[in-house]
Amino acid sequence: MTALVLDGKALAAKLRAEIARQAGALPFTPGLAVVLVGDNPASAVYVRNKERAALGSGIAARTIRFPADTPETRLLAEIAALNADPAIDGILVQMPLPAQIRAMAVIAAIDPEKDVDGFHPLNVGRLALGLAGLVPCTPRAVMRLLDHAGVPLRGARAAVLGRSHIVGRPMAMLLTAADATVTLLHSRSRDLAAECQRAEIVIAATGRAEMVRGAWISPGAVVIDVGINRLGDGRLVGDVAYAECVGHAGAITPVPGGVGPMTIACLLENTLIAAAKLRGR
Ligand code: NDP
Repeated sequence: MTALVLDGKALAAKLRAEIARQAGALPFTPGLAVVLVGDNPASAVYVRNKERAALGSGIAARTIRFPADTPETRLLAEIAALNADPAIDGILVQMPLPAQIRAMAVIAAIDPEKDVDGFHPLNVGRLALGLAGLVPCTPRAVMRLLDHAGVPLRGARAAVLGRSHIVGRPMAMLLTAADATVTLLHSRSRDLAAECQRAEIVIAATGRAEMVRGAWISPGAVVIDVGINRLGDGRLVGDVAYAECVGHAGAITPVPGGVGPMTIACLLENTLIAAAKLRGR
């Protein structure tokens, strides 16, 4: 069996074109503020990609850069200014932050209606309760990929590897809300292989390069690889051993070109949703 490769790059291009169409029909330009503290090279690349995608989709992106030694109070003052700025509909603070800044204090300071990352406790609570709110971009991207591939979720057994606040936990909540039967796995879970073998959908988000092996995948299962890992030789790989799993899976996302581009498109979609709500249309 050779898996259907789920092309996140192509789907993201379609979604961005649809966002550009919707943004173009608005009487204002939605605004996204991206805050970057320090000079982490990976963060700089992510921020540039987000800026570029926003501009191509009719969203005005404003990047605000701070030096690595910026005090938390300075960052909080900037967040307050962005909260009050009527031209800004979405605020994203690129993680990780330097040690002197408490990430949760910054996230909690963002206006929940402008929290396009969906990390604010209010939006996390809304997701847990099944209420409308801004949903974290990566799990939202995975749901869109599953939907586009026509993967049935009701009653399906799904294994989610990783329980982080930005990927694994919200992923499990979205799948549960879609009536899947979810097993949330983490570093203390026993027998990951057996747990994955029982699953019809495997979602890998551990940050461990190529840890999901071909033998873990039951024939025809759908494999979604959230991981982005740079190997010593410069190669970019996911959390799934792609070459092994592609022979077992029914469908699989590549790295790069799978979840990554869809995550950025979903960030723009969240900005549009926030703008529509904030500006009352
Ligand atoms: P975190 O490091 O925050 O969380 C990793 C999770 O995986 C933790 O819950 C951890 O368990 C679990 N884990 C780690 N090692 C193992 C193991 N050996 N067996 C089972 N579980 C394990 O990572 P993130 O959630 O932030 O990111 C996960 C991956 O997704 C990374 O590769 C990251 O680069 C990528 N990513 C990709 C995005 C995209 O747009 N495509 C966006 C965001 C992230 P425990 O809780 O017990 O410590």
